[in-house]
Amino acid sequence: MTTCNSRDLLEWDRTLVWHAFTQMAEYEPLVIQRAEGCVLVDIEGRPYIDGVSSLWCNIHGHRHPKIDAAIRRQLDQVAHVTNLGASNPTTIRLARRLVDIAPPGLSHVFFSDDGATAVEVAIKMALQYWRQRSDPRPEKTAYLALGQAYHGDTLGAVSVGGIEQFHAIFRPLLFEALRVPAPDSYRTPPGVPAEGLAAHYLAEMERVLAEHHDGLAAVVIEPLVQGAAGMIMHPPGYLRGVRELTRRYNVLLIADEVAVGFGRTGKMFACEHEDVTPDLLCIAKGLTGGYLPMAATLATDEIWRAFLGSHAESKTFFHGHTYGGNPLGAAAALATLDVFAEEGTLEKLPAKAARLGEHLDRIARLPHVGDVRQRGLIAAVELVRDPATKEPFPWQERRGQRVCDYAMTEGVWIRPLGDVIVIMPPLAIRPDQIDRIAGAVERGIEKVVG
Ligand SMILES: *Cc1c(COP(=O)(O)O)cnc(C)c1O
Repeated sequence: MTTCNSRDLLEWDRTLVWHAFTQMAEYEPLVIQRAEGCVLVDIEGRPYIDGVSSLWCNIHGHRHPKIDAAIRRQLDQVAHVTNLGASNPTTIRLARRLVDIAPPGLSHVFFSDDGATAVEVAIKMALQYWRQRSDPRPEKTAYLALGQAYHGDTLGAVSVGGIEQFHAIFRPLLFEALRVPAPDSYRTPPGVPAEGLAAHYLAEMERVLAEHHDGLAAVVIEPLVQGAAGMIMHPPGYLRGVRELTRRYNVLLIADEVAVGFGRTGKMFACEHEDVTPDLLCIAKGLTGGYLPMAATLATDEIWRAFLGSHAESKTFFHGHTYGGNPLGAAAALATLDVFAEEGTLEKLPAKAARLGEHLDRIARLPHVGDVRQRGLIAAVELVRDPATKEPFPWQERRGQRVCDYAMTEGVWIRPLGDVIVIMPPLAIRPDQIDRIAGAVERGIEKVVG
């Protein structure tokens, strides 16, 4: 066991490690040994541009000297302090920073460790809030979520999730959620013009709220972009409209910014695009710059106050995760936020997004490209059998995967969502690297569907 060569590693990776969302009978190992900036290097020394931010979480590149140093400094203090009735300076400072940069009104931070747990926390807080507030509404226990929503893989998150392929089998374990169609800007309802889309989808939500608001604790939404659904992009005004409707019908709004937070859409948080403050905000992936597992659920003062009381009143939020608020993660997160300021990360984004957009305009003209869509540095290219009818290719043909397989041969690592090719590089991506990713996608599409 003391020595092993790369053949052993590949074999063990195929047989011992059970990979997430991966058919292990067909798995082809990709074993990354090290990384630098936006480039990953595998155990054979082959470099790949990290075209999907190591699954949507890397922000400033890998091995950023500031973030590395911050973690090392924290390691010289303490690696872990429990969050259950105790704290540490780094985690406290992070809470302060998050409250400062979050949409106004979110002034309390509950730390956990993954996106799914951040959503579980929000779901449970919402329910308990309605029971404990000064004018209690204990009958408000249901949730309204969007079609094809993805909020993580724990059971509460799966209950509000709506992706058939992932979620259907677990239905016997789930609580019921009400659902309205995803406000899709590509696969639109017949007869509705683009400028009427937001109003159309909002009217559908209002119908459900009008009927069910008395029993509804919260609406759960991925603001602007539904990631795992295939980068479904919402029409402008939809998020703002949902905020107005949830206020009018006295239902909480949970914004899951696990994927879209930390600059992906061009602003620090997607909610800022429509001047929205949700009641609960879930963040994870980019929080530590893609370094360490850490998540947070931010809550308003109104929600926080409903949990205050003497121990004997049992208003405590009885929920926690062993590593919630871990100081190494907090150190990485603080450094990540410092780098945003020092490097002007958000200020540099429009030029990068524009460059990516130029490539997308070209790719949009290739045969079988049904749609290209973009929000900040989130881009998607959707392949279809027939662009006129938007009829998909048979999913078994794995066209999207084959385009990504081709990109690997050009040293570009991306992961598709079905036949949607996702381009979502670290915010630190350089223009020449954007060109290489887009070039590989373009040639891949020509090879696979040309
Ligand atoms: C990835 C993701 C999650 C789950 O986060 P994990 O850290 O994988 O548990 C939740 N919501 C959204 C929108 C996501 O993209």
